[in-house]
Amino acid sequence: MRRKNIYLLLGSNLGDRPANLASAREAIRAAAGPILNTSAVYRTEAWGKTDQPEFLNQVVEVETDLDPEALLETLMDIERQMGRERSERWAPRTIDLDILYYGQDVVQTARLMLPHPGIPDRRFTLVPLAEIAPDFVHPQYGKTNQQLLRACYDLLTVREYY
Ligand code: AMP
Repeated sequence: MRRKNIYLLLGSNLGDRPANLASAREAIRAAAGPILNTSAVYRTEAWGKTDQPEFLNQVVEVETDLDPEALLETLMDIERQMGRERSERWAPRTIDLDILYYGQDVVQTARLMLPHPGIPDRRFTLVPLAEIAPDFVHPQYGKTNQQLLRACYDLLTVREYY
């Protein structure tokens, strides 16, 4: 069964970043399903480890018949195929793919946390999310993305790029 309201965060801060985002969107479409909605691409300061190049971030909504675990596997395959080296935490990366929401599902396992636990703390996630899904309600906090963004304390700059 095809499901909607599945939101993914794409990030890249290494190499040809716009081309990396485009390749990731194509790989997601081919392996997971059609992309229903895309946010603008935002330039964001690196979070966590700040002495590295700025990220480009984008949120996409996909329609998929993959269950959450299979979707995670698919995204990790795409990351591997695109040559992401898993070195230190928060190191520069060709592509980073996170599942933000899988509809209203709540999953808490060692491998997968849904909704993504970083959502309320990260402007680089909330700004593009609030652009394409302002009224979508976070299943654990009972607040919309727009409300979460207004309440977010993160001060890192997030600017629309293209
Ligand atoms: P990262 O290095 O930030 O890409 O983290 C990837 C790891 O986070 C993977 O090994 C996943 O098992 C785990 N993970 C937990 N929840 C999620 C999620 N919602 N989306 C993507 N990865 C997740």
